[in-house]
Amino acid sequence: MFRLSRIFKPPRQIRTLTMAWYCSGSTNTELVENLFKVDLIKNERVKEAMLGVDRAHYAPSRPYSDSPQPIGHGATISAPHMHGHACEYLIEHLQPGAHVLDIGSGSGYLTHVLANLVTGPPGSSEQGKVIGIDHISELVELARSNMNKSKQGRELQDSGHVKFITADGRLGWKEDAPYDAIHVGAAAETLHPVLIEQLRAPGRLFIPVESDASPGVSGGQYIWVVDKRADGSVHKEKVFQVSYVPLTNAPRS
Ligand code: SAH
Repeated sequence: MFRLSRIFKPPRQIRTLTMAWYCSGSTNTELVENLFKVDLIKNERVKEAMLGVDRAHYAPSRPYSDSPQPIGHGATISAPHMHGHACEYLIEHLQPGAHVLDIGSGSGYLTHVLANLVTGPPGSSEQGKVIGIDHISELVELARSNMNKSKQGRELQDSGHVKFITADGRLGWKEDAPYDAIHVGAAAETLHPVLIEQLRAPGRLFIPVESDASPGVSGGQYIWVVDKRADGSVHKEKVFQVSYVPLTNAPRS
C-alpha cells in the first residue's frame, strides 16, 4: 500500500473522496487494517467490530473495496470508511448493553457492526440490542440472510439482540425506544423531531440531511450530529458533506 498519508494529510472530507484506491484490501482484515493505517478509522473498538464482520457476506461484488456497492432496489451498501466514521461519531453511546436504531439498514452490514459494539463479553448481562429498519421488505430479507451467513450473526438474530423490521424509518421505532444511538443511512429532507424524541438522554443521532436548495441549485447533503444531553437539552452540529441515497416514501409494489 502506498503511504501518501505519511507525507500529506488532507482534511478528512477530502480524504474520504480520494482514498478508495489504496485503502482497499484483498481480505476483510487487510481492508480494515488499511483504513486504520491511514486514519480513516481511528478507534480500536470500531476497528475490532469491523474486523468481526466479513463484508463479503454483505457486498458480494467487490467486498474489500473502499467504495459503495449496489445491493439492488436502488440501494447501495455505503463505503467502509463511511461505516467507520458513523461508528466513531456514535462510539461514546455504543457501550455494551446499549440500544441502537439503524435506519435504512440496507445490506445489514452496519447493523452487524453496531451489534458487535454493544455486545458485552459472553456471559455478561450487558448484551445490547440493535434494530435495523428498512422500508423495502426484500432488503430486510436480504439483511437477515446476509447476517445468517455467519454463526455469530445467526446467534445475534436468534437471541433477539438484532432485529430487522420493515417500516418507514422517518418515524423511528417507538417499541424499543429510547435509543442510546440512532444512525440514519439515507439522506433525510429534514431533521425529523421524532428521532430526537426517541433518543435517550444522553444519546446521539447521526443523520445525513439535505441542505435547503435555492431554485436550480442543490444545497448538498451534510451529516448532522444531534446530542440529547443528560439534562434533556438538544445540541445540533453540522459536521461534513456527504452523498447518500434519499430517505423516501416506500416504492409502490
Ligand atoms: N446502511 C446501509 C445503507 C443502505 S442505502 C448499508 O450500508 O447497507 C439506504 C437505505 O435506506 C436503502 O436500503 C433504502 O431502502 C433505505 N430507505 C430509504 N428511505 C427509507 C425510509 N423512509 N425508511 C426506511 N428505510 C429507507
